[in-house]
Amino acid sequence: MWKDLDISFEKSDTLKPKPDPTNLGFGVHFTDHMFVMKWDKEQGWHDARILPYHSFSIDPAATVLHYGQAIFEGLKAYRKHDGQIYLFRPADNFTRMNDGAVRMSMPRFPADSALKALKALVYLDRSWVPEEEGSSLYLRPTMIGTDPYLGLKPADSYLFYIIMSPVAAYYAEGFSPTRIYVCKDYVRAVRGGVGAVKTGGNYGAAMLATVEAQRQGYIQVLWLDGCEHRYIEEVGTSNIFFHIGDTLITPALTGSILPGITRDSVLTLARSWDIEVEERPITIDEALAASRDGSLRECFATGTAAVISPVGELHYEDVSYPINDGQSGPLALRFYKELQAIQYGWADDPHNWRVAVG
Ligand SMILES: *Cc1c(COP(=O)(O)O)cnc(C)c1O
Repeated sequence: MWKDLDISFEKSDTLKPKPDPTNLGFGVHFTDHMFVMKWDKEQGWHDARILPYHSFSIDPAATVLHYGQAIFEGLKAYRKHDGQIYLFRPADNFTRMNDGAVRMSMPRFPADSALKALKALVYLDRSWVPEEEGSSLYLRPTMIGTDPYLGLKPADSYLFYIIMSPVAAYYAEGFSPTRIYVCKDYVRAVRGGVGAVKTGGNYGAAMLATVEAQRQGYIQVLWLDGCEHRYIEEVGTSNIFFHIGDTLITPALTGSILPGITRDSVLTLARSWDIEVEERPITIDEALAASRDGSLRECFATGTAAVISPVGELHYEDVSYPINDGQSGPLALRFYKELQAIQYGWADDPHNWRVAVG
């Protein structure tokens, strides 16, 4: 479909000092190099380069700054004890990003070349993949419209780039359950909108509800559907699962929910463990009724950042509903351990999810 892009290399003369590995935070520090390629109507994708991390100069009229033509991805590189580095299902991230490009009237990109570039970039900056257990190198592919033009139309030029940031273990103090605020006043996405796309505006629009929930002591917001405010969608930037009776239930992908790769991995593992799974609409009333009658055994969120995040409490209309007595449950822990073991190369990889770097 595309001819393989040649990638040029320009190595940095001076390497940055590495941050304190015990105090990495999330998305604070960036590695020595980045990947950049350009698109315009005449040349398509071209000028693919790995070069020193640097700031862009961008026209103040650039499309991305006014009309939000921006998409991104989030995935991680993991270091095994023996030094081998792995990516987890990276091709799925690029497939999802290309789906997002179509939705945002942006050009699709050659996913094979992007994966090759990603692997080369991670390998070049491999000394940045942290060793501490649970830490990783967070990878952020991004695409923006760069036309200096205020007319409202898709841009004629784009920049695709990848930056990388070493990040700390998510659970510094153990695998701890979160308190979640069920949001009725704001919605994240509607059917037919862009909820299924990692596009900047979704996250800007979600901030107010999240800040208000956090002010009340909750870590994240559980979003309900945009029309009836009844159907559960997702939690913060993670998908959500309920273990009710003997069934693991997660909302079906209806277009307003982000199709998480961790979500898909959990579904695949659950099926391989003979756990009954259902992808279907689930209302907040059903989940809370299950909490009241004791059949709601566990609830957890899934996403690249935390992998699995157990939910210890749902707060809805001034009532708090503890889940599993506010403790993390055995199923959440089982998924967490298995996914981590696959991601770091400690366990077999029966689904071929791992991609070795180098
Ligand atoms: C990224 C994201 C997820 C999780 O996707 P993963 O591929 O599992 O990391 C879920 N919901 C939203 C809104 C997201 O942005």
